[in-house]
Amino acid sequence: MSQIYNFSAGPAMLPAEVLEQAASELVDWHSSGMSVMEMSHRSKGFISISEKAESDLREIMEIPDNYYVLFLQGGASSQFAMVPMNLLRDRDTADYVNTGSWSKKAIAEAGRFCKVNVVASSEPDNFTSVPPKSGWSLNPHAAYVHYTPNETIGGVEFHAIPEVGNVPLIADMSSSILSRPIDVSKFGIIYAGAQKNIGPAGLTVVIVRKDLIGKEIAGTPTMFSYATHAKAGSMYNTPPTYSWYIAGLVFEWIKRKGGLKAMADINRRKSDKLYAAINNSDFYNNPVSAGCRSWMNVPFTLVTPSLDAKFLEEAKETGLVTLKGHRSVGGMRASIYNAMPEEGVDALITFMEDFEKKNG
Ligand SMILES: *Cc1c(COP(=O)(O)O)cnc(C)c1O
Repeated sequence: MSQIYNFSAGPAMLPAEVLEQAASELVDWHSSGMSVMEMSHRSKGFISISEKAESDLREIMEIPDNYYVLFLQGGASSQFAMVPMNLLRDRDTADYVNTGSWSKKAIAEAGRFCKVNVVASSEPDNFTSVPPKSGWSLNPHAAYVHYTPNETIGGVEFHAIPEVGNVPLIADMSSSILSRPIDVSKFGIIYAGAQKNIGPAGLTVVIVRKDLIGKEIAGTPTMFSYATHAKAGSMYNTPPTYSWYIAGLVFEWIKRKGGLKAMADINRRKSDKLYAAINNSDFYNNPVSAGCRSWMNVPFTLVTPSLDAKFLEEAKETGLVTLKGHRSVGGMRASIYNAMPEEGVDALITFMEDFEKKNG
């Protein structure tokens, strides 16, 4: 098999070591005579897999004991509804920061349940920055403050956690969870679809402070209540067992590699060199303000958009695939999550330099 580097935004690359381990255990997991896919979620074997995954995630992220870790389905998109359904309590309004496509979706969904106060928006600069905290109009009576630490499509990232006082802070961390150490105790809820930096699609990880659950609004479906899943250890119904297992292998891989500090060092180095290559050229451009550029998703354009198709075609021939930008913004996007090796970023930079020499 020739070396392919897959820059997809999600589902995204998984560590090769994880895929190899999964392959070796695919048909017969630990001499059980069956695949993890065939196991009852209530079997001893699967319980050991699920408990190990949770305890490893708690260790890697240093999740305090007063938080539940839930392994759910429905994607981050279901969390856009679950957050207001469970956290509004007796309040009728919630604060949202609008930094791009994913924030907008979360805002639209919350609008079905409450008054949404958009405390700040970077829409005026076409979502190429993070609105400075000093300008946010936070409402002290809001049920919570929701933001998107990393906008996967725009490539805009908050490099610090906003301070919001006593109002619970909710983060859609789908594309930045596990990319660096974070202080979980600053959050009411952290949620993430797995298919970017955790594992396969089908799994959604929700880290929720224990005192926030059990107060869902009237009419909340059983499956949309955090309390349902917290009480049942994420096994109220059949969980996404195979995705949970692979996520567990990814957590073990992160531990072997030195944890989130090591991930952060590599991610900073990978993104720094890719942004430097873009900055040092008149042929490529990144519209995002310095200081808000994502470590995980690097959008860039060619100054001559008529060369886009040629760029993508020749990149693919070199083994660099899925570099096409999101349909809403065009251009290119290189998603460089934890599983993208540094050599993949180096290969992309070399290709970009060669392409510029031939076509610039
Ligand atoms: C991918 C993504 C989503 C959507 O996730 P699904 O699991 O497909 O629902 C939401 N928010 C962010 C920031 C994302 O990157």
